Amino acid sequence: MARIRWVLPIAVVMMAIGTAGSGQARGGEDGDHSGQVEKKFEVDTIKSKTGEIKITFIGHGTLMFQYDGKVIHVDPVSREADYSKLPKADLILITHEHGDHLDSKVVRMLRRADTKIVLTKACAEKVSGGIVMKNGDASTVLGHKIEAVPAYNILHKRSSGQPFHPKGRGNGYVVTLGKTRVYIAGDTENIPEMKLLKKIDIAFLPMNLPYTMTPEMVAEAAKVFTPKILYPYHYGRTDPNELVELLKDQKEIEVRVRKMR
Ligand SMILES: [Zn+2]
Repeated sequence: MARIRWVLPIAVVMMAIGTAGSGQARGGEDGDHSGQVEKKFEVDTIKSKTGEIKITFIGHGTLMFQYDGKVIHVDPVSREADYSKLPKADLILITHEHGDHLDSKVVRMLRRADTKIVLTKACAEKVSGGIVMKNGDASTVLGHKIEAVPAYNILHKRSSGQPFHPKGRGNGYVVTLGKTRVYIAGDTENIPEMKLLKKIDIAFLPMNLPYTMTPEMVAEAAKVFTPKILYPYHYGRTDPNELVELLKDQKEIEVRVRKMR
């Protein structure tokens, strides 16, 4: 209740100056998003040899990329944005079927007749007409190579003993945009397969407990596969500055913290 008392005046002030959309009720099984007001998104533009890659940090595990005139939505969900205000998708990537990653209503909203959707088998039960990829598959979609890589828990489990994300069910994706390799890890721990990744330019690694990794686990993985740019995402209430501190001597990795909650 304490939270609602101070969030409401902020919503009123922001609406008065015209910067915020409607206050959005959020919640879910994975992360605490209740009572936040809709935020403005941060955007990074990365210059690559083959053109600019624009990354919009929507929130939690949700992203939007724009490259070569195409729009790629990653795990679009209504609790993170009003998708009626965002561009329709040329490509949608869905990492797994949990509610903070798969929202079939938003997928319908972003989809045109020619939109490509890359997803897992479990997601395909809720979204039809997509390209199902399993761990280890690779495919070229809209001219971009997409590799589906494993994303799962080893240590972090439900009280039943089941991992939050069982091996083989969810995907991470390595997407090659021109010559830039972008790794979107999905919900995973620092699994052995992550350390085999090669030539990753931009990596998104999840960092919230109990569902994904601690900052130490993210740092340990990043030191092995050394992405040029590392964005912690899906970080819930974890302080991303802990990761910055852990990797401060790793000059080859640029850790960028962007607003994802
Ligand atoms: Zn998640």
